[in-house]
Amino acid sequence: MPNSNAVPSRPGTIVAMGEILVEIMATRVGQRFSEPGTLIGPFASGAPAIFIDQVAKLGSPCAMIGCVGDDDFGVLNVERLRGDGVDVSGIAVLKDATTGSAFVTYREDGDRDFIYNITNSASAQLSVANLRDDLLSKCGTFHVMGSSLFSFRIIEAMKRAIETVKTNGGTVSFDPNIRKEMLRIPEMRDALDFILDYTDIFLPSGHEVTLLASATSERGAIDELLKRGVKEVVVKRGAQGCSFFDANGETHRSAFKVQELDPTGAGDCFGATYISCRAQGMDVDTSLKYACASGARAVGVKGPMEGTATFAQLDTFLQSATE
Ligand code: ATP
Ligand code: MG
Repeated sequence: MPNSNAVPSRPGTIVAMGEILVEIMATRVGQRFSEPGTLIGPFASGAPAIFIDQVAKLGSPCAMIGCVGDDDFGVLNVERLRGDGVDVSGIAVLKDATTGSAFVTYREDGDRDFIYNITNSASAQLSVANLRDDLLSKCGTFHVMGSSLFSFRIIEAMKRAIETVKTNGGTVSFDPNIRKEMLRIPEMRDALDFILDYTDIFLPSGHEVTLLASATSERGAIDELLKRGVKEVVVKRGAQGCSFFDANGETHRSAFKVQELDPTGAGDCFGATYISCRAQGMDVDTSLKYACASGARAVGVKGPMEGTATFAQLDTFLQSATE
């Protein structure tokens, strides 16, 4: 069994930085965007935004750094995060930019297709000028999503933020959230490598474990990561549950049985719940139980951020849940 106290609890604010979007969803499985159809939305979204909303719902002090346009998509996101308890003072409202958006359709086999408008959006203008040293220097855990690293400007800002957090005694959690194609860009691999060097808690999906290591087996890659200085690795395996690894051992959990309605956001809710529980001083096993409940609950709710939950909601879910 792992030593539950491998990483001591990290009081202080949890901070996420990156893309803030709205998502507009197809209403019918198998619907295509090559012809007109009924859509539903806008819903608040963006991986780091979903993450920080889930952190706030669990009562952890938290803040978001990012950019939205001066439009209703921006208002929808900022007011949603503020209402759920996120410090939104680090979100810049840019006068001449549009809030990012994503359109999603669901295939019959359960896969999703996205059309993104992010690289031309307010989120793409995030730079070192948006860093808030006051938020970062009192940050207990800084969370990085690989999906946020889509421009050199953002990568530079992310590196700078990580250095500030680390210098002030904070820790870094990292969810690579990557597509294989991203690794073909050498600068992207360098950026992911840089972040991994500072990562205390690594939260990859199953297929991502070997992407950033030289070992080809999962166990080999995990050993490499732990040797490199990562203290906790939590592997997300969708309906197969999750696994935890640290220097003292490993533990595995099955997923709770739920009907999957919309997988978007499950990984973000899972990671946020794990980080929040650990920051509140809970042991690894309890944190994993709540994280799995949070992920499972999120796939049962339509909308990317609509599945975020409070402890009361997670406890209610756990009362009747089966693995
Ligand atoms: P994504 O591919 O969207 O980035 P992810 O790989 O980050 O997702 P998942 O593994 O899909 O994250 O989900 C995170 C956690 O949520 C899982 O480890 C599991 O505990 C829970 N979960 C996800 N999908 C299901 C499901 N279908 N049934 C039950 N629990 C689930
Ligand atoms: Mg993910």
